[in-house]
Amino acid sequence: MPSKSASSSLPVVKISRRGAKRLQDGHVWVYRSDIISAEGVAPGTAVGVTDERGKFLGTALYSSASQIAIRMISPHAVDDLARLIRERIHGAIIYRERVVRDTDAYRVIFSEADFLPGLIVDRYHDLLSVQVLTQAMDAEAVRNVVVTELSERLKPVSIAERVDPRIRELEQLPARPSGLIQGGVEAETTSTIFSMNGVRFRYEALEGQKTGAFLDQRENYAAAARYAQGEALDVFCYQGGFALHLAASCSKVTGVDSSRPALEVADRNAALNNRDIEWVEANAFDLLRDYADAGRRYDTIVLDPPAFAKSRSNLETALRGYKELNLRALKMLRPGGILITCCCSYHVSPDQYREVVGDSARDVHRNLRIVENRGQAKDHPILLNVPETEYLKCIIAYVSN
Ligand code: SAH
Repeated sequence: MPSKSASSSLPVVKISRRGAKRLQDGHVWVYRSDIISAEGVAPGTAVGVTDERGKFLGTALYSSASQIAIRMISPHAVDDLARLIRERIHGAIIYRERVVRDTDAYRVIFSEADFLPGLIVDRYHDLLSVQVLTQAMDAEAVRNVVVTELSERLKPVSIAERVDPRIRELEQLPARPSGLIQGGVEAETTSTIFSMNGVRFRYEALEGQKTGAFLDQRENYAAAARYAQGEALDVFCYQGGFALHLAASCSKVTGVDSSRPALEVADRNAALNNRDIEWVEANAFDLLRDYADAGRRYDTIVLDPPAFAKSRSNLETALRGYKELNLRALKMLRPGGILITCCCSYHVSPDQYREVVGDSARDVHRNLRIVENRGQAKDHPILLNVPETEYLKCIIAYVSN
């Protein structure tokens, strides 16, 4: 039998002094190397956490597989997990009602940042898309609470689950297909049209790439559109998020991506908005080099590459990649041009990214004025004390010469 904590009926996990210090500093994770004992604790259960001396530190969700063994959910003893989850979902929805504007597509629940570690829920108009990332959130009882609460509060036509097989493997969870977890299977319950900032997009819950859209860029699209003008190039355009927003104020827009399926959706999105955008399937590095060599010039360039630094170990290579992109873009911008340059690697800090952009500007003898220093949209909250929740950088700069 696992031991019980004095203050609740939860099984107990004891953690090291270093782990306890981390929690005192406001973080919500404890790594496996800081677990002293977790005997008999079933995978994915709620546990009471104590320090070495047995002092109660709070309630957490336990993973028997992840390097992040403990994800805190409360500083108190939680005896009714279902009720806590319902309250957290309600709290997440209330926060969005306060901060989300001009869209019917946004992240409803963002894991730790909404005190529901391991759960991501996105809304696309009348559809919800759920991602389960941990053993605890995969438990049948928890899934039922989540689906019921989301249905009652948001009344979606359907709820789809998007499964990342790699994550299930890492959490030692049995394989499971993506699919609807609530609602019918007719075409109209798995696809919809959503809008952000007045721009419309198609969404298919059960086909295409990872998710329907990069919702974290929503406010940056609107900001970019405020300054964009002339001839614009959207590099790493995916399904056209930036390009479609730029089209409102630019005379010509070209979107570049290496993924043909993404460009096909981008083209359908352009038609939906009656926009004429040129889509180019290419490797962005090669294309930027060729275009720069050919003397092409632009008034607005967006750089929004995938995360180059997946871990700290390849940070140097990643920084070189970011620098090369910025260098080439800056060479092609006309005086008075606008650079919108993004980096979604958590491992690259906002200061480091500014330095990359600054170094690039120096190397090509351009002067940059920072117009806006931006990050992720407010529906992807940043928790003070949990640095991992802040990951997106978006610098909008004006080329002075
Ligand atoms: N700006 C987009 C999101 C970009 S995600 C939006 O706001 O929706 C990154 C994109 O980079 C993906 O669509 C991926 O297909 C593309 N990509 C990755 N490597 C690439 C490369 N070397 N050249 C061009 N595109 C690439």
